[in-house]
Formats: sequence, C-alpha cells, structure tokens
Amino acid sequence: MHTVAHNSMKVPSRALAEWVEWRAGRIDSPVERLGYLRRSAAFWGGRPFRKALMDARAQRLSAFLGFVLLLPAPMITDGASPRNQPVAPADLLPRLWQVESASDHELYSNGLRIEKRFTARTQGARPFQRWRIDTGAREESTEPHGIVFHMTESDSIDYNEDNNKQLRRLSSGQMGFVRGERAYHFVIDRFGRVFRTVPENEPANHAGNSVWADDKYFYVNMNHSFIGVAFDGQTRGSDGKPTATEAQVQSARLLTQLLRTRYRIRAVNCVPHAQISVNPSNMGVGWHVDWASGFPFEAVGLPKNYLTPLPAITLFGFRFDDSYANVASEELQDAISAGETVLRQEATSRNLSTAAYRRILINRYRALPELKRQPDFSAVSARTSNP
Ligand SMILES: [Zn+2]
Repeated sequence: MHTVAHNSMKVPSRALAEWVEWRAGRIDSPVERLGYLRRSAAFWGGRPFRKALMDARAQRLSAFLGFVLLLPAPMITDGASPRNQPVAPADLLPRLWQVESASDHELYSNGLRIEKRFTARTQGARPFQRWRIDTGAREESTEPHGIVFHMTESDSIDYNEDNNKQLRRLSSGQMGFVRGERAYHFVIDRFGRVFRTVPENEPANHAGNSVWADDKYFYVNMNHSFIGVAFDGQTRGSDGKPTATEAQVQSARLLTQLLRTRYRIRAVNCVPHAQISVNPSNMGVGWHVDWASGFPFEAVGLPKNYLTPLPAITLFGFRFDDSYANVASEELQDAISAGETVLRQEATSRNLSTAAYRRILINRYRALPELKRQPDFSAVSARTSNP
C-alpha cells in the first residue's frame, strides 16, 4: 500500500516568489489579457478591438516562445545544459493524509473518497520510466511522473434526477468495462465518485502512443510513465462542450491534489490525452482527441497546460493536420503553432532546412528502443471512433 508523502520542508520564499512570478509572467497574464480583450471585442465589435485581439494573440505566442526557449536543444548535443525551471514548491499543495482505509474505500483529509469495488486484480508492481532530454538515457523509478486526463467518450444520457437509476447502471457497467480492459488507473463517474480501477503502481492501458516532456525529461508511450485519470463522459456533448459535471471537476481537483502530493508530480506534467497522443504510422499528433478543448485546468488547480508547445512536434518532428486543429481549443492551436515555430528556429540555428531537421527528429523517434516494446493498447476514444 502507499503511504501519503508529506513534504513539510520549508521552501525558501525566494523559490516561491520565483515560481509565482514564472507562472504569472509566462502563462496567466497573457491569457487574462486576451480574455479581457476578447470580452471587449465581443461587446464593442469594432475593428480597433479586433486589431488589439490579434496583437494579444501574437504577444501570447511570444510568451510561449519565451517559455520554450528555456528548454534545452532537443538531444542534438550542442553543449547547452538545461536551465532551471522553477518547480512548484510542495507547500503550495495542501497537507494531505489518509483518514481511513476500509475494504471498499479510502478516505483522505481533503475530502477525497476512493472507491475500491472495481479495482482490477494486481499483476505486480512495475517501474515507471522517463528519458533525459540531454543524454537520452532511460531512468526507472517506483513513482509515476505525471497525470494524463481522459474522457471515456462513452454514450451518455442527460444528467438529471429522472435518470438516476439509468445513470447508476451506466456507471457500474462502465467501471466493470474499464477494470476488464485495465484502461485507466482512476475513473470519475458523473456523480463525482472516484473509482480506482488499476493499482497505481502498475501500468494501465491509457496513453498508447504518446509523447510529452518537461524541461529535463521526455516521456514516450506513457502507460509506463504517467497515471491515467478518466472522466466518464464526452469531450463534445450535444452542446459541443465537455459533459463533465461540477461533481466530477471537484473530485478531479481532490484526486489531483492527492496524486501530486503522494508522488511529487509537477503541474507541468498534468495534461489531457489530446496533448500527448500521437500516431507513429503517419507521424501525426492527436490520434486520440479526448479533452482537446475545454479541460478545466483552473478548477482542477492547474496552470493552463494547453499553452505548452507540443513536445511531439519540438522533440520528434510530428505534424498536425486540419482535423486535429479543428477540434483543438484555441490555446492548443497556439501551442501547435508555437511548436512549429520552435522547430523552424532550431533548424535555422543548426543551418538546416526545416524539412531536413524534421527528418532527423523523426529518425530519432523511430530509433527509440521503447517503441518496439510497447504497442498501442488503448482502444477507447480514438479519433476514428469519435470524429
Ligand atoms: Zn484518452
């Protein structure tokens, strides 16, 4: 069983200040500025506002690039060492402990209750893995490095009291299915109940072919790197918006707090599936597009990670197509453009054409030994089944 990590170490206020400044400067304010301008544009509708909106978007992009340029040059070694990117101090997360552990549930001090009735039988603990960006060396550890958020994209019915019985039956059916497939570590049903479907120290088949990176490490085929948390519902419900209920969002916040505290997971490594999913057969990003828009980062207690330029593009030369861009949120579209810009800049700095540099990156991806060992198991919510 796990013990809940509690880091009571005092974090110097300078680190806290740096981190807060980093977050505010790089991410929050451009978005807030954009939101303000967009609201103004909607209200006034005038041309000057549209111009201001465009400027804000350009500014926002340069904010991403400022962020990206902190990343070390992707594995083509040119002597550049990774610069430090502030890590969220552990004391920004609430102190958390397990209050109760019964045969059918666990209770935590932040109010999180984890249901154990649908947990799959153990298949034995397996190490989690990551690779150093500067050397390409693979490292194993006993702790996961991040969280991937999913939507089950299963059929749903209206969320109202007339449907209580059917909603409960759908929930049970869904949990049984997920347990059988070992599809995610956790599923949050529409009532906000959190079910552990696969033990946290074992892989779940949730991420399939995937790529992510922070400033120091990259992750590929992330079933063996990140924890999978699924909302039961659809990214695009009948009104085109995610069907996530308030109860689900609240539970996701509590579960994220627990997982981040327990495994010292960084906020930059908590991302929706649509941001990490890739298709190696056509080198395209976004094979799975669950949570390609509308993920409630703020309500879940996370920075807007949609804004991160896609590592699949910057590290391994993946491409995007229109069908991905069409379902992606505006922020995610900007992250795609930012990724492409980084790719061009990296090519220029090496006196290579973008095409030639992209070929190098693609060859590097295809040479990863990991790809030969981990086929894509994830069967749910592929783009084909959810156009
Ligand atoms: Zn998914």
